[in-house]
Amino acid sequence: MSKKIFVFGEIRESELRNVSFEAIAAAKKVADGGEVVGLLLGGKAGNLAIEMIHYGADRVVTVENDQLQAYTPDAYSQAIMQVIDAEKPDGFILGHTAVGKDLSPRLAAKLKSGLISDVVSLEVVDEKVLFTRPIYSGKAFEKLEVREGLVLATIRPNNITPLEKDVSRTGDVSSMEVEIKNLRTIIKEIVRKTAGGIDLSEAKVVVSGGRGVKSKDGFKPLQELADLLGGAVGASRGACDSDYCDYSLQIGQTGKVVTPDLYIACGISGAIQHVAGMSNSKVIVAINKDPEAPIFGIADYGIVGDLFEVLPLLIEEFTSV
Ligand code: FAD
Repeated sequence: MSKKIFVFGEIRESELRNVSFEAIAAAKKVADGGEVVGLLLGGKAGNLAIEMIHYGADRVVTVENDQLQAYTPDAYSQAIMQVIDAEKPDGFILGHTAVGKDLSPRLAAKLKSGLISDVVSLEVVDEKVLFTRPIYSGKAFEKLEVREGLVLATIRPNNITPLEKDVSRTGDVSSMEVEIKNLRTIIKEIVRKTAGGIDLSEAKVVVSGGRGVKSKDGFKPLQELADLLGGAVGASRGACDSDYCDYSLQIGQTGKVVTPDLYIACGISGAIQHVAGMSNSKVIVAINKDPEAPIFGIADYGIVGDLFEVLPLLIEEFTSV
């Protein structure tokens, strides 16, 4: 049965995050020939709305309101609830990002609905949509079906292929007014720890360092390799705890979950808590001087050696390509 599915367009530094396009592709499957509607909250959404349409949305609803310029769970959930109330969609899909993870349980509670979080794939079997999500820190996967009520789901970045961009697609862009009141928090200033750069959770290549990197300076060749490959630098908790890098780089059970095309683990032992955040990477390369390191158990390619000898060789090789 065809459905109306809303997709949350997540804006970061005036651009739509890729996961929003991946969410549109997911919504298409759930909609089953019905309508996929993009939702953009915040400032001037003009070009971004068209972009959502080019990636498969049938129409876009924008909500412009000063209180929505920066994300706050309070203001965003109030706005989304009013949109849902007016539009009565059958489903709402968000990215499994920091914002999506914060927002989706609030919506589920307000809507008294279930929530399927961290979806890595969807398939249609016998006209039912089955959502696959990891459980037990990625050691197993479960498939879930929504039997009744709203389909509320978050999808993990980098797992669902967006539809091909089609600039000839057209669709209606309408704006909606919302009333936002009694805010408990107001953003006065945003102080960024790191400026720009590639978002770790959406990066196609991640070069990650562990305690084996030994110092802040030890991260320099990792950054050089990441820059060469158009990727981002990540880290184990061992490296963060040792103050070699910022905790915002931590990958794992209590850090970020990444699924790049290529994950290069440098001086990381492969503790289960780290593996939980990167085991779904498409190709894993491990560089470790200990041939018994557990990381080799999940690596597609293993290099036994000193990372400070291996990385310069890789950098030289990629520079000459
Ligand atoms: P180590 O285990 O010390 O490994 C360092 C590796 O570097 C070794 O294998 C060594 O052989 C290698 N090495 C040393 N020098 C070199 C060199 N010159 N060249 C090549 N290799 C070298 N960890 C996470 O990463 N993410 C999490 O989210 C996370 N959450 C946790 C949550 C809980 C509740 C707990 C209890 C732990 C968590 N941990 C997490 C910590 C985790 O258990 C490990 O302690 C941590 O991942 C180890 O980091 P590491 O691999 O960098 O360090």
